[in-house]
This record gives sequence, C-alpha cells and structure tokens, in this order.
Amino acid sequence: MKLVKFTNKGIYCIPGKFYLDPWRPVDLAVISHGHGDHAKWGMKKYLCHHFTKPILKIRIGEDIEVQSLGYNEPIMINGVKVSFHPAGHIVGSCQIRMEYKGFVTVFSGDYKVQDDGISTPFEVVKCNEFITESTFGLPIYNWLTPQQYSDQMKSWVESNREQGKTSVFIGYSLGKAQRIMKSVEGMGKIFVHSSIGRLNEAIESVGVKLPEYETVLFNDDLKMVKNEIVIVPPALLDSNMIRKIPNRATGLCSGWMQVRGSRRWRSADAGFAISDHADWNGLLDTVKATGAEQVHVTHGQIAVFSKYLNEIGIKSDEVKTNFGDEEESSAKEEEPIKKTETEAETK
Ligand SMILES: [Zn+2]
Ligand SMILES: [Zn+2]
Repeated sequence: MKLVKFTNKGIYCIPGKFYLDPWRPVDLAVISHGHGDHAKWGMKKYLCHHFTKPILKIRIGEDIEVQSLGYNEPIMINGVKVSFHPAGHIVGSCQIRMEYKGFVTVFSGDYKVQDDGISTPFEVVKCNEFITESTFGLPIYNWLTPQQYSDQMKSWVESNREQGKTSVFIGYSLGKAQRIMKSVEGMGKIFVHSSIGRLNEAIESVGVKLPEYETVLFNDDLKMVKNEIVIVPPALLDSNMIRKIPNRATGLCSGWMQVRGSRRWRSADAGFAISDHADWNGLLDTVKATGAEQVHVTHGQIAVFSKYLNEIGIKSDEVKTNFGDEEESSAKEEEPIKKTETEAETK
C-alpha cells in the first residue's frame, strides 16, 4: 500500500489528493502546527486544529480559507479518514492520521513527548507507516524534566534579582516563550515582547490558559522591567532593543544549549536546554510504540536516526523535505516583526 508520496511540493496523500505541510502552493494543505517551516503562505485551503487557526491567521493572513477540527474528530477526504492527534510540540500541534482501506499512515509533524503543561500532551497513535522528525536524534540529547528545568530557571531569576539584575529569557515566540512563562510562573512580573504578546492573545483566544504577563513595547520607558522577568524572541538577542534593558542577564532557552559551543551560546549569560522536540529516547520510544512497519525520517539527524532504526530492525528510510529547525530559521522569520518594532521606535 502506498498512501503517501514525497514530492517537491510536500508530502502528498495519494488517494486523499491533499498535501501535508506543503512548502509550495497547493489546493488543500493539511497543517500539523503553526511554525513557519510547516505552515506556509499561498495555499487555496487550509485544514488544521482549532487552536492553530488563529495562529495561522496571524502568521499567514486574516483572509485565508481555513477549516479547523478538534483532536480525534475524523473527517473523510476523498475516501481517506483523516484525524488529528496531540503532538505535544506547541499549542495546537497535531499528528495527522490517515486511514485508507485499513492501512494507517501517521505524519507526526514536530513532536515532544514531555508534557509542558501548556500544549495538549502527546499521544501515541498506532500505525502501519510513521513519518517522524529527528531534530534531536542523537543520543547526547536527553532533556531534564519540566520540574528540573523550571527549578534551574527560577534559581537563576532569584540570583539575578539579588544582584539587582533583570532576567531576560530568549525563546522562540511560538512555543518556547509560553513554556518559559509557565516555568517561571509565580516568580514576579513577566513582561513579553509584542511579537510574543500577539501570539499569546491568539493562544488565549481559543481558551488556553497562560500565566499572567504584560506586553512591553520597546519604545516605552523600560524602568518597570527592572528586577523582573522579560521574554524576547531570538532575533532580538544582539539587537539595540535588548540593550535598552539596563542591568540585564540573558538566558537562552533552546535544545541546542545542551551542547557547549553552540554558536548562540557565546552572547548569552546562561543557557537552558529546553526543547519543543523529542529527545533521543523520546523519538526512539515513540517510533517503537507506534508499531509501524515502515518509518520515514523527514528532518533533523535523519541519517543517524534512520540508520539506527534499521540496525534495531525497524525498516526506515531518509526522505528529503523542506522542514527544519524553527529556531535556526527564526532570525529570518521574525525579521518583519523586528522591523515594525524598529519603525515604531523611531516614531
Ligand atoms: Zn515546529
Ligand atoms: Zn519543524
């Protein structure tokens, strides 16, 4: 059975005649989540989870044609039973399950098996064929528990405060920023950059509860953030905007922080290895739990991970897609936001 085909436009469901997270314009795009490498502009119609809908509208356009579904709410598309299941990656992220004539293919998009207290927790979906990412598909990647990294972050905030410093966390605006908020909840006032504020509003508009925060405009006087917590996207790390915060300590939150010498590490005062992707064991346990006879590895450490799966007897191959690490591409992606802010600043 061949249910999907990897094409230069994206992953194509053959009988369903739709694409999964396509990167070139198509008629029907079924979207796993709102990150820029998975949700692109130019599709005639979008289908996504209810929680992703307002995110797509912010990032792609208010006027797009988009239908949304809840988790475990199957619909039929050209005879293919399609349903969404929690991927635990960010708010609204889902694995896309496709069933046709008794054969099941699951596209995981990006996923995280750890429950971060904000995204709907990951669920294993049994299937014949599983399409997986492998962003952190190396045995060196082993995440701390949410309790452990939250403790680390809280004690960093505390020691900054003792030294009269403002704690500035750097984290990707969709996913990471909300987890940082959750991790330091109760430690004092949380200020977020407006690009994060906009996404927070979209997330809250669908009923997801976030910790209390205030949106800070960097053309404001920044006195009120003194000794408190500020969260900004990675694109701002070396910007003039961040320099307007006096007496700051910067803490980078990214899975890449587990490896010393990560190129962004140098300009920050601290690093927290927090990721919205599964670590090595998370990937491996998930692939095994799906029971899939065939696994396709789409992005990240594809060669290593795929080879390892074959070695332990799980048939796997490497496929080429345009998906990548949203954090690495975030500098580019958040540029328009940065520009508007700068414009506002000079007004
Ligand atoms: Zn993602
Ligand atoms: Zn991705």
